[in-house]
Amino acid sequence: MIHQRYKTQFQLYPYARVPAQDAETPARHPVVIVGGGPIGMALALDLGPRGTPVLVLDDHDGVGMGSRAICFAKRTLEICDRLGVGQAMVDKGVQWNLGRVFRGEEEIYEFNLLPEEGHRRPAFINLQQPYFERFIVEAIFEAQAKGAPIEIRGQNQVTEMERHDDHVVLTVDTPDGPYVL
Ligand SMILES: Cc1cc2nc3c(=O)[nH]c(=O)nc-3n(C[C@H](O)[C@H](O)[C@H](O)COP(=O)(O)OP(=O)(O)OC[C@H]3O[C@@H](n4cnc5c(N)ncnc54)[C@H](O)[C@@H]3O)c2cc1C
Repeated sequence: MIHQRYKTQFQLYPYARVPAQDAETPARHPVVIVGGGPIGMALALDLGPRGTPVLVLDDHDGVGMGSRAICFAKRTLEICDRLGVGQAMVDKGVQWNLGRVFRGEEEIYEFNLLPEEGHRRPAFINLQQPYFERFIVEAIFEAQAKGAPIEIRGQNQVTEMERHDDHVVLTVDTPDGPYVL
């Protein structure tokens, strides 16, 4: 049984048994991404639509409630734009460029993080990380519908990794027990 470190906020990819779990010979994949956080999912969305088959193994079955980030910077939004998800982030988030520091009622400092004109995106948006991750996963679903070779396996936790010259062997735990890739 796999240990879940936090509750799921958006259950997007429930556990489903796959034929690889019953295969006599472990399946081979050119790219396996361990962990379906923002980085893993963004990488899947970057590679899959270009035709590289990607398998994402995440120990949760969706986006977790362990919300951490609340501010996303312009550079992050530019990367999201490249992946086709920037607009969803900006529409949901609160945009800001100006920071103001108060001591009691008195404003003691002000800083503008985007003093130049002409930038497409604001210096920052405030957005809860679960939404940030959900928009990326939803874009993966859209890409999958268009044929992008991306597979996400929820409640698949990598417990062991063994390196070889031309491949890596992963042991993956699931609610039905472990299997090897
Ligand atoms: C308190 C706090 C505040 C933050 N605030 C901000 C902010 O305001 N702005 C900002 O940009 N960033 C912020 N960050 C940083 C941001 O949250 C991280 O950079 C981001 O979550 C990293 O993404 P990741 O995909 O690398 O890792 P994670 O988000 O940690 O995702 C990793 C995923 O992999 C899964 N996983 C782990 N091990 C395995 C395994 N063996 N098998 C299968 N799955 C596995 C995990 O359960 C998780 O789903 C903050 C971080 C913290 C802690």
